[in-house]
Amino acid sequence: MRLSLDLAASVFPRLQQALQTEARVQLELFWLRDPRRHAVLELRMQGHWPVQCQRCMETMDLVVDESVRLHLLQAEADVARLDENEDYVVLDEQGELDLPEVVEDELLLCLPLVAKHEHCDEAMPLVSAEAPVVEEKKRPFAGLADLRNALQRDQDREV
Ligand SMILES: [Zn+2]
Repeated sequence: MRLSLDLAASVFPRLQQALQTEARVQLELFWLRDPRRHAVLELRMQGHWPVQCQRCMETMDLVVDESVRLHLLQAEADVARLDENEDYVVLDEQGELDLPEVVEDELLLCLPLVAKHEHCDEAMPLVSAEAPVVEEKKRPFAGLADLRNALQRDQDREV
């Protein structure tokens, strides 16, 4: 299921309060099942939001183009089924999702902590708080199995 929306930012009170000016939000929502059959909500958020540059105090155009995948969990404990880097929301007792609330939370995350023009930012570069963490899955015994198979093949050949 897919839903496309083009909304005024004022639909979201907390976002409106942060922006303090008229803006629009384009949303695309997809409900899907991932390969493990988990229910997932994929949310794409786009917009050009006028925000104030915190260095020169002029208005700047913040280009928002973010996507998130949220696993829809029946209970907090289900988080054990997810990988560490997977996002999720927990449904309420009725198994329902407060969609406007969830979407607004995600929209607020699109706002930078401190908005700055790129050219205004050069003097003092910020270190991204969201540097991707590359984590390799450790399978300590996989190498052993390969080794054993290789040895086995060698032995078979000798026989
Ligand atoms: Zn600026």
